[in-house]
Amino acid sequence: MSFVVRSYCVKHNLNLETQLKAAFGVAQFAVQNKNNRKKLSSKYVKHFGLPSAISNQILRKYGRGNIKEATNVNLIVPNSSKRNYKMKDGTTKEYRNITYEEETVILKPLKLQFRWNPGRNFLHINQVEVLPNRFVISATFEQVESIRCEGVLGIDLNCGVGRDIANCVNLQTGEILNYGENGPNIRKYYFMKRKKHKVQNNGETRKMRDLDHKISDRIVNYALRHKLRVVVEDLKGIRSTCRKGNGSRVANRFVNSWSFYRLQQFIEYKAKERGIVFLKVKPHYTSQECSFCGVIGKREKENFRCSNRRCEAFPRVLNSDINAAFNIAKRGALELSTVPNSEEPTTRADNVS
Ligand SMILES: [Zn+2]
Repeated sequence: MSFVVRSYCVKHNLNLETQLKAAFGVAQFAVQNKNNRKKLSSKYVKHFGLPSAISNQILRKYGRGNIKEATNVNLIVPNSSKRNYKMKDGTTKEYRNITYEEETVILKPLKLQFRWNPGRNFLHINQVEVLPNRFVISATFEQVESIRCEGVLGIDLNCGVGRDIANCVNLQTGEILNYGENGPNIRKYYFMKRKKHKVQNNGETRKMRDLDHKISDRIVNYALRHKLRVVVEDLKGIRSTCRKGNGSRVANRFVNSWSFYRLQQFIEYKAKERGIVFLKVKPHYTSQECSFCGVIGKREKENFRCSNRRCEAFPRVLNSDINAAFNIAKRGALELSTVPNSEEPTTRADNVS
């Protein structure tokens, strides 16, 4: 069995100013006394008021000698289990600084707890770093063996009203799957409701999140069943181009598309935790190229027409989303074929919840 360590961020809005100030004080003490090993013990920094497990961790880090100044000091809760204590009945019990039960992480030294869902193959938490606005969890997972996949599943995501959220294409069999036809209607429904009742949050966020979970589950289950690698468009940078308002066509398709990014992340982590290869390809012209011949065609909303008279698709009208999904699948297949034994061609994006 092999293991993998991953980091996760969980936002919080706790006021930890006092503890962080104390941590800074301990770090300064450690830097000042780095040549005096005897003093680098929690009993000399008791007056700062931090639990010894945490001040020891800071003393170790800042007392090493290579750090000249205490900056950006955070609270680090290590999950060591060196201390055992005796129970009343004579048995010894292991003490852990961090416990994880029922989706709740408890940081015992700080008397803090927060909710976190690690997903599949989770083994244990190594440490939790406490920052002014978030927790950073470092946890160990069992590494899943990559599945030997032959085919490719191309996925096109979009947000137009009356269109499916995800259009998938199995490149080998040509099978087409459409998921989430209700998505755009949910958005429209809540938009109208908000307008009418003048309220801000009325459950749309939760509904869309649930839907994203459902869609990603179905996509990953299909890929698993048919042993397919999953290929999506690389959305990175698209939203920033949107904001600049340069009006590029690719950008326009993703305006107000924060939920795409989330859906894509769901698909990515669910695929990877089951050993499915996940790949992102360049998104340029995926919706304007003909998936039969590669020539740029004419696209009007959900219709696509190839302009190449010698193309086998000419003069048929194709569904533009499915055409795009085929293009994505083909790009993925091409990229994967040039990388021999590509078990994991992309780097894992941090699963920020
Ligand atoms: Zn064509």
